Amino acid sequence: VWSNCLSFIKDNIQPQAYKTWFEPIQAVKLTGNALSIQVPSKFFYEWLEEHYVKILKVALTKELGDDAKLVYVIKMENTYGNKQPFTEKIPSSNRTPVKSQDVDVPFNNKSPELKNPFIIPGIRNVKIESQLNPSYTFENFLEGDSNRLARNAGIAVANKPGGTSFNPLLIFGGVGLGKTHLAHAIGVDIKDKYPEKTVLYISAEKFTQQYIDSVKKNNRNDFIHFYQIIDVLIIDDVQFLSGKTGTQDVFFHIFNHLHQNGKQVVLTSDKAPVDMQDIEQRLLSRFKWGLSAELQTPDFETRVSILKNKLYRDGVEMPDEIVEYVAKHIKTNVRELEGAIISLIAQSSFNKKEITINLAKDIVDKFVKNTKREVSIDYIQKVVSDYFQMDVSTLQSKTRKRHIVQARQLAMFFAKKYTKASLASIGSQIGQRDHATVLHACKTVDNLSSTDKQFRKYVEDLAKKLSL
Ligand code: ADP
Ligand code: MG
Repeated sequence: VWSNCLSFIKDNIQPQAYKTWFEPIQAVKLTGNALSIQVPSKFFYEWLEEHYVKILKVALTKELGDDAKLVYVIKMENTYGNKQPFTEKIPSSNRTPVKSQDVDVPFNNKSPELKNPFIIPGIRNVKIESQLNPSYTFENFLEGDSNRLARNAGIAVANKPGGTSFNPLLIFGGVGLGKTHLAHAIGVDIKDKYPEKTVLYISAEKFTQQYIDSVKKNNRNDFIHFYQIIDVLIIDDVQFLSGKTGTQDVFFHIFNHLHQNGKQVVLTSDKAPVDMQDIEQRLLSRFKWGLSAELQTPDFETRVSILKNKLYRDGVEMPDEIVEYVAKHIKTNVRELEGAIISLIAQSSFNKKEITINLAKDIVDKFVKNTKREVSIDYIQKVVSDYFQMDVSTLQSKTRKRHIVQARQLAMFFAKKYTKASLASIGSQIGQRDHATVLHACKTVDNLSSTDKQFRKYVEDLAKKLSL
């Protein structure tokens, strides 16, 4: 089956790309209509998923029919040395053997999603999918001054879930600094040490969605019940709950129940509790019961070790000079740091260029330029008006027509979100309004986007357009 797929793929992509990305793959097994293939690294898997998922799908569907499934098996690599096949045990300090890292990717559903979290109460032996990503571990979360407290608090929690004073543990910090990674690592480690414990990782956004659905379907109680039987609840990006009073309410009850029963709660947020807006006071005060640990931007040395570790795990060699060049110039966050290195590897492997300092300079320049670009209020108004097919002057006009008011409020909302301008200056630039109008607009957008599906779509579409 696989060799048929390969020959189809070979005919349809560049020879160089075929050589780089398909020749190293090994077919492992075929069970029913699920084909397992082994890839050399996680990076490799992500690359395939990002660039070749379509052609893989076509090839596989031809061979196995519409229900074809592809399972990636990532060859496990020990962080500290010798590559090992994934089934072998990796002895390392106090960790239990790492399990196979199958990433099961049904085609119609790109990221592995929570299947059906609702379990009918009363059925025993419920098995809850923990939704953890096994590749986010403490081992590959490199320690530095910027994250020492958070990382070690995470380790302490994982050693004794619910049994430390870090309950809840709240990890906060800016974009791309490792909150999600650390949140998973805590869960993964707990699952390793206490396999019998029920661990659940979920984003606050999804939690909210599930809650809303449960209300619609009249099973709010099942929802609450489901969350109350969890031993370790990890909620990512709780800032998302801001302004969503219903969800905050239900979370408050779940939190209290878990806490009283000695269960562990781990939360992440892009802000410190004191800076969170539109979160009920009683919830904020709960957040402060445990420990709030900040992730800061890593210093140069930590950036270098993060990069080296990543290269090592992906099996790529790169001269120190180049690694240091990248680490020196990309300072804002780890995600960008990794992004730059991945482009560098990709560029060199596609163009068969050696990775030189000049190539590194080109790529780093591009990254730095892209991230420095701040959108202007004019640009935001233009994008929003285009989206709703009106002129900027209409958007700014005094009319109270509903769809124009909405467009105007969206422009204000994004101006607040994406620029550093004050409320007053946003108001004056968007048709001479005062700061209270802008504030009201931001609140309205927040509210509408949590209650009105169509409106939420506007917000998401525009956010995408503006972040390009
Ligand atoms: P956040 O959730 O804060 O936006 P992520 O957890 O998604 O950030 O991290 C972004 C990327 O950076 C991930 O690929 C993560 O593995 C990596 N990363 C962040 N901090 C570290 C670290 N200290 N060591 C290794 N990788 C890190
Ligand atoms: Mg995150």
